[in-house]
Amino acid sequence: MAANGLPILVVGGGIGGLATAYSLAHKGFPVRLLEQAPEFREVGAGIQLGPNIFRVLERIGLKDAVLADAWQPNGLVMRDALTGEVITEMPLGARAQKRFAQPYAVTHRADIHGTFLKACQSSNLITLENDQRVDDFVDEDEKVTVTLASGERAEGRALIGCDGMWSRVREKIVGDGAPRISGHIAYRGVLTRDQVPEDLWGPDMTVWAGPRTHFVHYPLRRGELYNLVAVFHSDKYVEGWNAEADPEELFTRFKGQRPEVLRLLERIETWRMWVLCDREPIKEWSQGRVTLLGDAAHPMLQYLAQGACMATEDAVALSERVAERPDDLPAAFRAYQEQRYLRTGRVQIMARVYGEFFHARGVAAELRNQFLQSRSVDDAYDGIAWLYGGM
Ligand SMILES: Cc1cc2nc3c(=O)[nH]c(=O)nc-3n(C[C@H](O)[C@H](O)[C@H](O)COP(=O)(O)OP(=O)(O)OC[C@H]3O[C@@H](n4cnc5c(N)ncnc54)[C@H](O)[C@@H]3O)c2cc1C
Repeated sequence: MAANGLPILVVGGGIGGLATAYSLAHKGFPVRLLEQAPEFREVGAGIQLGPNIFRVLERIGLKDAVLADAWQPNGLVMRDALTGEVITEMPLGARAQKRFAQPYAVTHRADIHGTFLKACQSSNLITLENDQRVDDFVDEDEKVTVTLASGERAEGRALIGCDGMWSRVREKIVGDGAPRISGHIAYRGVLTRDQVPEDLWGPDMTVWAGPRTHFVHYPLRRGELYNLVAVFHSDKYVEGWNAEADPEELFTRFKGQRPEVLRLLERIETWRMWVLCDREPIKEWSQGRVTLLGDAAHPMLQYLAQGACMATEDAVALSERVAERPDDLPAAFRAYQEQRYLRTGRVQIMARVYGEFFHARGVAAELRNQFLQSRSVDDAYDGIAWLYGGM
């Protein structure tokens, strides 16, 4: 088969991989998506969706479908986890929508993943395959040949590695070793509305900033669910890697915080935790007919709540560059990477800074509170406009 009769291969069927498959098909390109897991599924809890993701979702016609399952909070409220004092409030409703021309929403990870999956399933240009782990690949100039764990080979016009934080594709084309373990640990939980005590339920995105901790809660799925995320800085995991949960450490880290925090913390899932990792930003993540996308290209800490948003922006940017140069995919991939690396690198770096800000202690916490309390709503919008106003 001539190379241009081959599909584009996408490795990984997470949010990034499905968004990529759909965006490429939306531009008329056939895609074969290879996912190692036996089914397409997202584990985990809620994610925040900044106005920037809706700008690109609109371009591929999925904005309304994503919004249909989501919750649109009235505002972001940050409180001091020791005193309860409100540190800052940023309206996220009509006023933010006017400023950024797109909404802000929160959704269950499974809901946005499910919307992308359904969109891919409805396209006759996309083939979705499970139980297909990509072990190796060779760029043969005119095409890329992939070796799967089954021993089978697959050929494509190009290969896009959407295979996440521990990307096999990245290992081959960038080769910068394992991700950086941040020493920050997250526990999450999703409650049904009736599991949340009435006085603790709120419509906002609420962040409780404590010394080396923060706790976030917000409604999900049109208000039917409630999302909890507890994050703390643990010295135990700076050097090593251990995904086994240690609830005792979780409760020790939040000791002495406001009762509103402790009462909700009791309801968090303690059987599983996430050891948060990222990488240093890089400038080049494409090689010939192979490129990376989402966490495979620029894994970031979650403090700006943008990993899935950046993966979706990547997907739309990539498909647009491919559509401009359908006969020169290496050039299209270079143009995509050129368009993306400064923005995604900025998010990687600023996510670390926000982590420090959320977890400040002592004088640093006082200075943070003073700084945030002195800001007007427009100052707050100006401060995040580089991110929410982008793409
Ligand atoms: C605690 C926490 C909170 C977060 N909150 C937010 C938030 O509020 N907003 C936001 O936008 N983002 C958030 N994120 C980030 C977001 O979840 C990720 O950035 C995003 O899901 C990355 O998607 P991805 O498709 O690039 O990678 P992944 O979701 O990791 O998907 C990779 C896929 O590739 C498959 N795969 C891997 N290797 C192979 C192989 N060799 N062959 C075949 N398949 C393979 C995997 O099975 C998987 O399905 C958060 C992350 C964490 C940890």
